[in-house]
Amino acid sequence: MLPTRHGVFRIVGYRAADGIELVSLSQGIEDDGRHSPAPLVRLHSECLTGDALGSRRCDCGEQLDAALALIAGHGEGVLVYVRGHEGRGIGLVEKLRAYRLQDQGLDTVDANLRLGHPADARDYGQAAGILRDLGIERIRLVSSNPAKEQALALLGVQVVERVGGAVPARPENARYLLTKRQRMRHDDPREAHQARGLQRLIDTGALADFPEPMDRYSWLGAHASWVIAQSAQSLDGFLATRRGDGAALSGAADHRQLHRLRALSDAVVVGAQTVVNDDPLLTVRLVEGTNPVRVVLDPNGRIPLTAKVLTSPDAPTLWLTGPDAPAAAGQVEQVRLGPGPWSPQNVLRVLRERGLDRVLVEGGGRTVSTFLTAGALDRLYLTTVPVLLGDGVPGVRVRAVDSVADAVRWPTRRFSLGDDVCTEFTLR
Ligand SMILES: [Zn+2]
Repeated sequence: MLPTRHGVFRIVGYRAADGIELVSLSQGIEDDGRHSPAPLVRLHSECLTGDALGSRRCDCGEQLDAALALIAGHGEGVLVYVRGHEGRGIGLVEKLRAYRLQDQGLDTVDANLRLGHPADARDYGQAAGILRDLGIERIRLVSSNPAKEQALALLGVQVVERVGGAVPARPENARYLLTKRQRMRHDDPREAHQARGLQRLIDTGALADFPEPMDRYSWLGAHASWVIAQSAQSLDGFLATRRGDGAALSGAADHRQLHRLRALSDAVVVGAQTVVNDDPLLTVRLVEGTNPVRVVLDPNGRIPLTAKVLTSPDAPTLWLTGPDAPAAAGQVEQVRLGPGPWSPQNVLRVLRERGLDRVLVEGGGRTVSTFLTAGALDRLYLTTVPVLLGDGVPGVRVRAVDSVADAVRWPTRRFSLGDDVCTEFTLR
């Protein structure tokens, strides 16, 4: 097993007859052949400068990252890391000589030819052998290179579809991943994908600290689309003190619960004020799982361009802004909506158009309250912390009622998160 920043992969080593050692990294591919009929496969050609040293002369490193993220997001697929493919098969030092010729004005093909090499000297026989070893005969090839598809066909590997393709330069990466998530979903039975997301939490022990784990999460795994919210507040109803200090309000168990919900979601939604106050990363860190797309609701363009959701490469970000907001820099998809306030239904429509069907509304209090009172939530997980703050940033608020009888009594369940109590409201 190989834990990576994209998730845990099974790694298998191979030694070819010519002494070259290759590896495959896979998820969801078992020896018994019980994978989908044509899993995602990336044949990644070794590139020391791009993969390991961060070279900007090529996009190999980003293609490698994107392919692993794609496979992890899908929960199934193989990346064969093909050693011996440096410089399209001419070797590392020859590649550096070609770089020198390129610096003198030759393009990459002519540079190879000048050095007496073919434009592309790569052979895929070993990679095809590895796929056979894994019991894979038909694939969806993660590549933009039609030549790879033709080479594989000659080796008996049927490419039913080419997906992904060119990973554009860095600023486009997030957009690409976002689109691919949508695309993947299109190709994959949703139930299977979600069951795997839940299975991953079970397998990695992320549900072990709950007495009735499946009962708490089975409905999230069983439905193709939902909108939930999670919020933690003091017993007197505040998310944070008057000075905005709320980071350490709830305990470790509540934080893990939040990360589990993120890992089960396609998208995590926060309001601009939360980004301004807390500058959150919004990634899955306390359990094993795939990062959701980060969605920021920012009708007035208030969040700083230095915010982590706009600058950290850990997950794609969808920035919903009004018409007058500054343009996004870096790897962010910006969608300009009309002037705010926006209805939750409008926001959810934008997300659904991108295949983001399982949505966690994470904060702050005003955003959660807006989704709640608009009837846009299926469930609310409201954690109460046994502490009194006196005053501060309001937590979840609903329209006031005049008599207790007018208050809606939703079905609820309660469970302990350390000293905190989480109440689950079934709203729909
Ligand atoms: Zn490269």
